[in-house]
Amino acid sequence: MASRHKAAPIVNTTLSVHPAPRPRLRSPKNLWFTARPVKQSIVTLDMEGVLTPEIWIAVAERTGIAELRRTTRDEPDYDKLMRYRLGILDRHGITLSKIQEVIGGLAPLPGALDFLNALRGRLQFLILSDTFEQFAQPFLRQMGWPTLLCHRLVVESDRLTGYQLRLADQKKHAVAALQSLNYNVIAGGDSFNDTAMLAQADHGILFHAPENIVKQFPQFPAVNDYGVLLELILARS
Ligand SMILES: [Mg+2]
Repeated sequence: MASRHKAAPIVNTTLSVHPAPRPRLRSPKNLWFTARPVKQSIVTLDMEGVLTPEIWIAVAERTGIAELRRTTRDEPDYDKLMRYRLGILDRHGITLSKIQEVIGGLAPLPGALDFLNALRGRLQFLILSDTFEQFAQPFLRQMGWPTLLCHRLVVESDRLTGYQLRLADQKKHAVAALQSLNYNVIAGGDSFNDTAMLAQADHGILFHAPENIVKQFPQFPAVNDYGVLLELILARS
């Protein structure tokens, strides 16, 4: 009888009274769901004209050299356009520092930062641009350093003497590579140099595109408002 009044031994009552339930083994039919690969979506965006102003147009305005206004919207042959631009810069003695000074005074397009912030909360995105590392930094800083795939300028003593593509037709190849990783790719761009990317993507969207490109590529929806662009992207993801 006395044992009923003894102090209770110190034990872990949680473990001794309520042992943890054993994990239930799933049946093979439930495992089927975890074995199937998941299709995820990713967005690829052009930079100039979609998120930021056209760098070359800003340089044309600042330097007063009207010939520099020619862009990929006007000239589909990128190499021809770049040789033309570099020739003009050389003739006018315009250096990399001068161009970087112009770019440093530019901001992303109105509404672009809100759009990117709303997008990055929902989906992963990459910027695919035919711009150059030396030009892009001021914009990347303002956009919160998103991932950018682009090219590189050849610079000798501050003089632009050429350019090096990392890869020809890089935007299209980047989209194809993402698709090979089982991504559903949604691409947005505004110019001739985006149309191969848009065609390769699972969903291509023209944004801020001029009338001639909208007419030439009626297969892509064309929108001009960031809110509508975000809706289209999310509807295709
Ligand atoms: Mg563009």
